[in-house]
Formats: sequence, C-alpha cells, structure tokens
Amino acid sequence: MLNMPKHILLITLSCLALWACTGERSPVDAVDTPSELGAGVATSNAEITEPVIVYSSRQEYLIKPLFDRFTEETGIEVQYQTGEEGPLIARLQAEGEATFADVLYTVDAGNLWSAANRGLLASVESSVLKQNIPAHLREPKGQWFGLSVRARTIVYAKDRVNPDELSTYAALADPQWRGRLCLRTSKEVYNISLVATMIERLGEERTQAIVEGWVENLAAPVFSSDTLVIEAIAAGQCDVGLVNSYYLGRKQVDDPDYPVALFWANQESSGTHVNISGAGVTRYAKNPRGAQLLIEWLSTEEPQMMFSEMNLEFPANPAVSPAEQVATWGAFTQDNINVEAAGRLQAMAVMLMDRADYR
Ligand code: FE
Repeated sequence: MLNMPKHILLITLSCLALWACTGERSPVDAVDTPSELGAGVATSNAEITEPVIVYSSRQEYLIKPLFDRFTEETGIEVQYQTGEEGPLIARLQAEGEATFADVLYTVDAGNLWSAANRGLLASVESSVLKQNIPAHLREPKGQWFGLSVRARTIVYAKDRVNPDELSTYAALADPQWRGRLCLRTSKEVYNISLVATMIERLGEERTQAIVEGWVENLAAPVFSSDTLVIEAIAAGQCDVGLVNSYYLGRKQVDDPDYPVALFWANQESSGTHVNISGAGVTRYAKNPRGAQLLIEWLSTEEPQMMFSEMNLEFPANPAVSPAEQVATWGAFTQDNINVEAAGRLQAMAVMLMDRADYR
C-alpha cells in the first residue's frame, strides 16, 4: 500500500477495504480445470496468494460464514463489498478494466443475466461446476452459475383452502379465486422473472390472459414484499398468494403452527418456477483462478448445506440434501427451463404486466 501511486491508492480507497495490490496478475477469461478431478474443487490453489474480491448483493451474515470456511480450507483470503444489486452492477460497469472485483455474487438470474449482457462477466470452463450445477441453473457459456435455488410457489390459508383446489400458477386466474389472491408488486424482480419464464413456456398471449386474471382476482392492492403477502393471508385478508418458499420458512421456524402452508405449483406440468442466487467471475478479474476456485468450492457439499441452513433455500447441487425445515415441504419437480430466460425475457415481461394493469 505504501509505495502505491496516488491514483491507484485513491481508486483502492474509493472501492473497498484496503488490501495489498502487489504481486503477479494473470490474464482473465476461461480458466481450465482438469476434468479427471471430478466434482471436488480441482483448480490448484498452491500459487494463489492474493485475496479474492467479491461484490455481493447478499448480506454479510449470509456470506461471511461461507467465505471464512473457504479461507480455512484453502488459505485464500476473501474480501467483499456488499450492496444493492443494481448499484453493484453499475459500479462494476463504471470501473471497467480497473475493477477490483473478481467475483459478482447476487440473487436472481435476471440480475446475473443483466451483468453478463453488459459484458461484465468472463466465460469459465469448469468440469466441477458442470458436474455439480444442473444445466438449467447456469449460463450456457459459463458466465454465471446458480449456487442456491429459491422456489416461487403458491401459499394458502390452511383453514380456508383445501390444497386439492390448487394446481398451477395459471389456475390462480380462475374466477374461483376472485377477491382471494394477494400478490407482490410487479416492480420487483421475482415476479418479473416468474412471468418471463411463463412467457417462455406458454407464449405471450396466454401469459397475458393469466396475468389479467390474477389482477382481476386480487383481494388487496399489491404488496411491497413476499413477507407482507404471507402476513395478509395469515390475517385473513386473502386466501392464496405467490412467494419464495424461504419467506414462509422463516415464519414456520418462528411458529410451527403458522396458519399458512406451501403448495408446489405445476407439478403435473412444467414444474415449480425456480430462481437462483449465483455468481460469476468478472471479465476484468485480477485473480480469476482464485475466483473460479471460490465458485467451485461453493458448489460442493458443505457450503451447499450452509446455504440451505442459513437462508432456507435449496442446494443447487442435487447431490446435497436440503436443511431440515426446507425438507418438510417435500420433494418437488423444478421447472427445468434455463433460468437465463428470466433475463432474456425480462423487458417483455415488464411490458406485459403493464398492459395487464398489474402494478
Ligand atoms: Fe428474497
């Protein structure tokens, strides 16, 4: 730090915590991993002496325990900067080649798609990640990889709805649910991603008819969070809603008799809509091998279980069992559409929801 030119010092100070900016820096892009090493972490870390720098939209309490374990196992330090996904991605773009970020870690495939679409992520060829992460949960060219899975599905009032009445997202548009549905705002990425994958599955016309039906069925103006949707159902304001399962999990951990239950949508057809938290190596990473090693390690058993236990999500690696609370919801079939569709069709989904008067 001491002998650093002033402009670099300023960039460093304006970026992140302080770290040593010395040492060899290897070029970016694809980092090859020997395929014969299977699903464990394969890249040799003997020569990695610099820290891996992560820009993360996930909160510190969710990432720090994981990074600490990684450092214990590999000796490689991880430094991170947390913030909202939009500003973090904008910052990565503004910093360009000068960025200190080696890894972008965020939630929702729509956000990762947006970063990749702006050319901010490198393509990584990793047999470890190909083996540990199913194809529908990673970007086809290796620009980002899902690390945990969140399911967006139907929740219902136990005392007012018989689960036999439930089936699909589309069926929530039926007149049977008039004045009984609660939804989160369309301005938030989770529902944009759900509608985007519905467009991919069902086409634009059919999806718009469904979304119009949802709007007609609303019991209350849209809510700003999934938690408020669940609480509205618990309070009797509505009978059914659409939320990410971990928000219900948090309620059930606090109160095992919580009056709202979960139903796995679309099990007879396309499967339940899933999204991811995930990460990619940045295009201008200064430590691309360390970055790849970290993402590969996060796809292995122990960190995969930690994801599930800390945020009640599902492991992205199908060989790993979910946490106890998560397992109580039973096994379900995921929609195996590539989650990348959530990004690609995002703009179309936003316009469709607007036309349907979904606010
Ligand atoms: Fe969330």
